[in-house]
Amino acid sequence: MSLERTLSIVKPDGVRKNVIGDVFHRFEKAGLRIVAARMMQLTQAQAEAFYGVHRARPFFRDLVSYMISGPVMVQVLEGEGAVLKNRDVMGATDPKKAAPGTIRADLADSIEQNVVHGSDSADNAAREIAFFFSETELCPR
Ligand code: ADP
Ligand code: MG
Repeated sequence: MSLERTLSIVKPDGVRKNVIGDVFHRFEKAGLRIVAARMMQLTQAQAEAFYGVHRARPFFRDLVSYMISGPVMVQVLEGEGAVLKNRDVMGATDPKKAAPGTIRADLADSIEQNVVHGSDSADNAAREIAFFFSETELCPR
């Protein structure tokens, strides 16, 4: 494994449920460090661009509406094997299929409203981090 960075988002349902701290604590317990963070309200254009890979999927419109339904907390996580480690902490997309003890199993309501986003590969992590943060905003430790 090598030192990696990945992009994480606490989605609007997570912010509404007041579980930002719970989610951050899970990252820290797993050995991931938060090296940048910003709370923000995504615009429709930002949400459509961020999830552009899903543009043709039937759930795309609902996904964009959900992602702009309230503020999100966006963060960069750093650590050994951070991309996969974050996906492990998150759990499967569908909370009904997520392993016990994962964020989605414990905190999410549905396959759409599933509390967190996490990059799925090192390449996508680099692209997604650059979508939200400039290099000078990252504080590696
Ligand atoms: P993940 O977030 O686990 O990487 P995907 O990249 O496949 O999952 O999907 C992106 C997001 O789109 C999901 O986190 C979820 O919010 C939403 N989504 C995925 N599949 C569905 C579905 N079948 N129905 C509704 N929303 C979905
Ligand atoms: Mg994905």
